[in-house]
Amino acid sequence: MKILVINAGSSSLKYQLLDPETQQVLAKGLCERIGIDGRFTYKPEGKQAVKDAEVAMPTHSEAIQTVLNALVDPANGVIASMDEIDAVGHRVVHGGEKFAKSVLITDEVMAAIEECNPLAPLHNPANIIGIKACQTLMPKTPMVAVFDTAFHQTMPAVAYTYALPYEYYTQDKVRRYGFHGTSHKYVTARAAAMLGKPMEELKLISCHLGNGSSITAVDCGKSVDTSMGFTPLAGLPMGTRSGDLDAGILEYLMHKHGYDIDQMLNVLNKKSGVEGISGVSSDFRDLETAAAEGNERAGLALEVFAYSVKKLIGSYAAAMGGVDAVIFTAGVGENDPTTRAKAVADLEFMGVKLDPEKNNVRGKEVDVSAADSRAHVLVIPTNEELMIAQDTAALVKA
Ligand code: AMP
Repeated sequence: MKILVINAGSSSLKYQLLDPETQQVLAKGLCERIGIDGRFTYKPEGKQAVKDAEVAMPTHSEAIQTVLNALVDPANGVIASMDEIDAVGHRVVHGGEKFAKSVLITDEVMAAIEECNPLAPLHNPANIIGIKACQTLMPKTPMVAVFDTAFHQTMPAVAYTYALPYEYYTQDKVRRYGFHGTSHKYVTARAAAMLGKPMEELKLISCHLGNGSSITAVDCGKSVDTSMGFTPLAGLPMGTRSGDLDAGILEYLMHKHGYDIDQMLNVLNKKSGVEGISGVSSDFRDLETAAAEGNERAGLALEVFAYSVKKLIGSYAAAMGGVDAVIFTAGVGENDPTTRAKAVADLEFMGVKLDPEKNNVRGKEVDVSAADSRAHVLVIPTNEELMIAQDTAALVKA
């Protein structure tokens, strides 16, 4: 099967054409500056990438048409005709409480996704525009929605309920939803395969550490708690996001500096996290270089991040009554041995011990735990596109 995976943002669109069974990626790329001046990147398998070509993309429709044209192009294409695309899998950020699984897109499903728009006003409307553009250009091709929130719908009320007046949940849908679900689902399935054990026998802690970061406790294959909340601003400090903080700080800073709520949220989303602490960068490579050169705030930012990861690992082990494996994934988790080592330092008391030599690895599936560690520590590169393609193929076949 050939599945086109689409991840549509407000002015950009990532795509990948792949075979979910062989895992072969036929082509992938990016449309950027949609509605502005249109930039197109296309990388067919085994060939040179076409980079940054300027293509008119006033809307997502032209962007997707550009992708389809490239895929069937006689010189650089990877398929003979659009009919070879068996289905399209769309990443959708928020499925609210309506979607606990991926679904085939129907008119009712579209209406239900639109109802979730207020919960993710920056993301869901863009995802919907991407779906509608594909439906217009490929009216006969089945489409599937894969939600970032779906994997976390198994969380019990004790994990998703905020200590607010209960009406805010019943009437306004304010609860913990969690995000990065596709990634947590993929790496925990890979962990079970690596360990050669059924999911039902495993207590896993999945650390997705990238520009955005979240940690999920997965017991018997089910998400039972996760660090992101009602929005992706919660939990760990991130590249530029604050993560959890005392809500009283908002009132204090807003009064002191005369900020309105939009200005305050801009600080929390775009100027905080490790960039905010360090004043250097949101990128961990820059922070490590700066820290090595003696920049104390860069060092502090890295320490705050690793300490926050460690505290969540400990609390999720407590929540599940143990842990069989801690998984590290995404940009930082896959590529940064130093942060991994700091995040699990001193956790021998709960059976988690790293092998420093094995840990010196980047971007590969490896068990980096010490021979005498009771729990495993696994580095597993995430692959959200493959997960989306696999879910899409399964639904279309059914
Ligand atoms: P992601 O959001 O998953 O794409 O992760 C992006 C982040 O991964 C970047 O901002 C970097 O901070 C981090 N990263 C990527 N490569 C490395 C590396 N070799 N060492 C440390 N951090 C890295």
